[in-house]
Amino acid sequence: MSAAARWYPLFAMDYRLPTTLAPSRYDIRLEPDLEAATFAGEETIAITVAVSVSEIVLNAAELTIQSASVQVTDGAVVQGSAALEAEDERVRLLFPSPIPAGEHRLTIAFTGILNDRLRGFYRSTYKDAAGASHTIAATQFEATDARRCFPCWDEPALKAVFAATLVIPEGLVAVSNTRVAGETPAGPGKKAVAFADTIRMSTYLVAFVVGELEASEPVMVGPTPLRVWCVPGKRHLTRFALDIGAFALDWFERYYGLPYPGDKLDMLAIPDFAAGAMENLGAITYRETALLVDEATASHVERERVADVVAHEIAHMWFGDLVTMLWWNGIWLNEAFATFMELLAVDAWKPEWKRWTTFGVSRAAAMGVDGLQNTRPIEFEVRHPRDCEAMFDLLTYEKGASVLRMLEQHLSGEVFRDGVRLYLERHRFGNAETTDLWKALGDASHLPIPEVMNGWIFRPGYPVVIASPEGGGIKLSHRRFTYLPTEGAETERWLIPVRVRASVKRGFVDKPVLLGTEDISVTLPAPPDWVVVNAGGHGFYRVQYAPPLLKKMAGALKKLAPIERFNLISDCFALAQAGAMPAPDYLDLTARFLEETDRNVWTALIGSLAYVNRAIPDEQRGDLETLVRHRVGSAFEHLGWEPQPGEDELERQLRGDLLRALGTLGNDTETQERSRSLYARYREDETAVDPDVLPALIAIVAAAGADSEYEEFLQRFKSARTPQEEQRYLYALAGFRQPELIRRTLEKTTNGEVRSQDAPFLMRALLVSVHSRGPAWEYVKANWETMARQYPGSAYRRMYEGVTALVSPESERDVREFFSSRKIVLGGKTLEQYLEQLQIAVRFQEREASALAGYLAKPPRAPRR
Ligand SMILES: [Zn+2]
Repeated sequence: MSAAARWYPLFAMDYRLPTTLAPSRYDIRLEPDLEAATFAGEETIAITVAVSVSEIVLNAAELTIQSASVQVTDGAVVQGSAALEAEDERVRLLFPSPIPAGEHRLTIAFTGILNDRLRGFYRSTYKDAAGASHTIAATQFEATDARRCFPCWDEPALKAVFAATLVIPEGLVAVSNTRVAGETPAGPGKKAVAFADTIRMSTYLVAFVVGELEASEPVMVGPTPLRVWCVPGKRHLTRFALDIGAFALDWFERYYGLPYPGDKLDMLAIPDFAAGAMENLGAITYRETALLVDEATASHVERERVADVVAHEIAHMWFGDLVTMLWWNGIWLNEAFATFMELLAVDAWKPEWKRWTTFGVSRAAAMGVDGLQNTRPIEFEVRHPRDCEAMFDLLTYEKGASVLRMLEQHLSGEVFRDGVRLYLERHRFGNAETTDLWKALGDASHLPIPEVMNGWIFRPGYPVVIASPEGGGIKLSHRRFTYLPTEGAETERWLIPVRVRASVKRGFVDKPVLLGTEDISVTLPAPPDWVVVNAGGHGFYRVQYAPPLLKKMAGALKKLAPIERFNLISDCFALAQAGAMPAPDYLDLTARFLEETDRNVWTALIGSLAYVNRAIPDEQRGDLETLVRHRVGSAFEHLGWEPQPGEDELERQLRGDLLRALGTLGNDTETQERSRSLYARYREDETAVDPDVLPALIAIVAAAGADSEYEEFLQRFKSARTPQEEQRYLYALAGFRQPELIRRTLEKTTNGEVRSQDAPFLMRALLVSVHSRGPAWEYVKANWETMARQYPGSAYRRMYEGVTALVSPESERDVREFFSSRKIVLGGKTLEQYLEQLQIAVRFQEREASALAGYLAKPPRAPRR
């Protein structure tokens, strides 16, 4: 099905701008006043009018139009009047005489505000080392906020060339999408910075940043200078991003087979930033934690985050910027593809990070949402641009990247790459749709791509493959996986590329099969010792093994790849949540993993134990802590407290992860004691503690901490030397368990002490902790209006995910009551998803209560072999 063809004409009437004229070039001059938080602007837009018009409609929001005129081809200037339509975020320019068909120049003068909502043209503030406040003006336009900066045809298909000039105080710098073409004096103490023409591109990719900024030395990648920008004093934190940035830029040029489409590449760290980063062509903006990092003191996870985001944004320079989705329904392809490419590039940069194994965690998170009745297809109709805001979620990024990876593995890496090259070559400087990519991949592979892919893209949900013994082999069938009983799930079918690996007679059988409407019998030369379905772990489906197969697998864990062990745990726990596996059976299975060495598998194990912890009554907490210590203890003991020579990064990070689990979820007093003394040593000598262990120590000290630790952490948060240090101490504040300290942290989510980009996530952390969720929920109920006003939309939405941790029938009723009486709009199906996740947890609690109580009361033991 080609969705676009069906609904495109419909929208032109409702939400889209008239197609009677189109812009081809914007000459924009902007003069921001950072002190007054305002700006003045003038633009001249080259327009092509198809049929004579007496009015011109384009997008504008929160702008005041001073004047508007059209200079028609023959030279006459027609003055117009402007009528703003605030609701539709448009301005209607009315002219006394018709504008004839032809090429004309539209000139508009306007003023606007530098807002504090982190969108459009906004201001960001920071304090320097001496405590003095400074302001930066920055932009964030995706999806539809360019119209808050200058009147424009704010739709991705209406590409144009942009030539910007920024008039700014002498002492500041301005950065935009292209190189500076020239600087000229512009009145007392001011200069006009003119930028070179951009390529033809969409409005949402335009960027302006003005402030007191420092740049790294440029790194040349072929003809392209790559720089990192930051506020003064942080230039020493730019090296790592430059390294991955230079690698990725070069790697993508080779992969895509096309040169980088810009004339330079700047990456800028903005102190206040709503998303993680934004792929403005040639001027990528980031939140500080996603770009600036001190390699010597950051943990593996913190460095991986920077590498991921940098690679992701640079991947967009081609996929998104050079070739752009026709309309917002295509945003999934943009984001899924950049996520997929980010992983390919980071995996090529640091193979030892085993990035595709770690991606299992993200894939599982997407499956968590996509297993809900309230999920959605990856691609769906977006009528109003506003509807695409809720598209920036796990299903777009992680499910999207997962199904692309599944397809890539199905076609082979080279064939997939050739298809991508074909797609970019065909559509560069233009726009395209999902079907265009399938077409190109189909041309490269000579396979019917839409047949395989449509079920994964245009339908909600995903399958669970059921594997059972049959004769000497196995039988595979499937249905839709859902956590709650769902009508019709039994009969839903996909086309699933399945890989089966079996151990047979001391050898292996590795079989790819395409599972469709009919069940499949996989014959093997002899009855297998064990079988893995979804071998290699790339499939976006779960596997439910019949008990005899599961038993054999659990006895052969060392023969499985880490991603296969991860999937085993992730799938079995999902089945337990869905009521298809008793919780005690799942907990028994976790006892098989005492010698586990992969940190992703541990992420799944610890995550499931934390879930159980939220579902049990307070009086069983001690028993669960005992179980956590049993499961985690020996693996940690095996690693020891100190890094060993020859260890790789992943082992060091695993030490940190296990330590944190022991000291917080396991509430192990000995670990807490030793962590406190090790942290005390760190205060004397910062080199005394491994960077992968330090974040765990901070979390543990907080969990067992009192007033003095709280004061210290608060100070360290405020005077942090790196963005990562700031984040560690900030989120540690949510880990203190004393009621008075919880109250203090709650207040910080609304009193301005914490940036609005971070406060919603701090609140989310308070909501999900069993120690603070009660008071945190009361606080949200009392302050939600303030939060709605202060927090950026995307983060506000994420905060409410915390309600999924309020696991009790009474809380569930209270949460539903809260939302139904307030009409809080979170976009898309977000709210319904949170409510369903809460319902699933409460059902799990009710169903498993007595079995869990009995299981946890017994002393934990190692499994019988
Ligand atoms: Zn992206």
